[in-house]
Amino acid sequence: MANAKNLLVLPGDGIGPEIIAQVLRVIDWMDRRRSVSFNITEALIGGAAIDKTGVPLPEETLEAALKSDAVLMGAVGGPKWEVLPFDVQPERGLLGIRKGLGLFANLRPAIVFDALADASSLKLDIVKGLDIMIIRELTGGIYFGEPRGIEELENGIRKGFNTLTYTTPEIHRIGKVAMDLAGKRDKRVCSIDKANVLETTVMWREEMTKIGASYPDIELSHMYVDNAAMQLVRNPKQFDVVVTTNMFGDILSDCAAMLTGSLGMLPSASLGAPDSDGKQAALYEPVHGTAPDISGKGIANPLAQILSFSMLLRYSFDLFDDAELIEKAVQNALDKGFRTADITGDGKTLVSTSGMGDAVINELDMLAA
Ligand code: NAD
Repeated sequence: MANAKNLLVLPGDGIGPEIIAQVLRVIDWMDRRRSVSFNITEALIGGAAIDKTGVPLPEETLEAALKSDAVLMGAVGGPKWEVLPFDVQPERGLLGIRKGLGLFANLRPAIVFDALADASSLKLDIVKGLDIMIIRELTGGIYFGEPRGIEELENGIRKGFNTLTYTTPEIHRIGKVAMDLAGKRDKRVCSIDKANVLETTVMWREEMTKIGASYPDIELSHMYVDNAAMQLVRNPKQFDVVVTTNMFGDILSDCAAMLTGSLGMLPSASLGAPDSDGKQAALYEPVHGTAPDISGKGIANPLAQILSFSMLLRYSFDLFDDAELIEKAVQNALDKGFRTADITGDGKTLVSTSGMGDAVINELDMLAA
């Protein structure tokens, strides 16, 4: 088909290949039933790559990622490779591909499906209908700033230090991602900082305000991170898009993830800067890891992986109807009571990984009938 999209699929380790197998069925369904088509290439990453090639990110994998329109990944890592030196462990493959593709924006939606609203540790009325997007800056800030280290002072005293730095281009590019995304949603951005204490985030707030001025139809607000942590559990539905620094985003996105109550349901995207032709590197993956405790048992929840694919359709290809179709199929499967072991409850139909794949495909068939 003329408009075929080139997808690189990286199953990875543990439950990665099991849940990728289900998303491949959804992609095949799309190929047959919708006006979009995909050329799929598979490659190695993580422990699977170490076993076959000795390195967690083979050059061919990075090359294929750079050539593709989008990358869909399972997860990497596991006990088998934990004995290896730190710099050749499977997780280095993930960091390597993020760096190689220049992925600086991490998007984590926190969506509560009605059928699962009671899985949250918060009260039903606080989370029911929740649909927020946390955008975390991924390649700058205190996790990468120099100087850093641990120094020996006198008298056995040691000093540990890290540096929080951001440049204006780093703030502008993540700010633009947030504004553009809000334009496709409820048109509200809340920028989180600690501008009452940290100079770097005084500048963050000033620069975000400048970016906001060039998006007159987006409502921009600012909030200190300590208040944001409280507001996320007090009244999370007040937010639409949240944008913040690397470290604040790391913490707040995990907090927001738990509002939904289940790790097996959470997709994510990491985006790079668009090039002069408008092509934007992007990697989509579930938030969870390789779940070694259940790997090989056929019981993993494939929905975070399937929802990562619907994010891919929306954010890499603007295929909003196709993305919504998948999300509706997932919602219908849950409404009918199908549950993998991690989200099951009284009166629900317990299904395997492929059983949940069947349920989603059945719903897609019915929606498209
Ligand atoms: P994990 O997310 O793999 O598992 C945490 C718990 O959640 C486990 O009990 C697991 O069974 C359960 N779980 C996770 N995903 C599930 C799913 N889809 N369906 C049902 N249950 C699910 O986190 P962990 O145990 O801390 O890490 C295991 C390995 O994964 C480690 O090697 C870690 O480094 C790696 N990891 C990789 C990524 C990634 O590739 N992006 C992210 C996190 C952890």
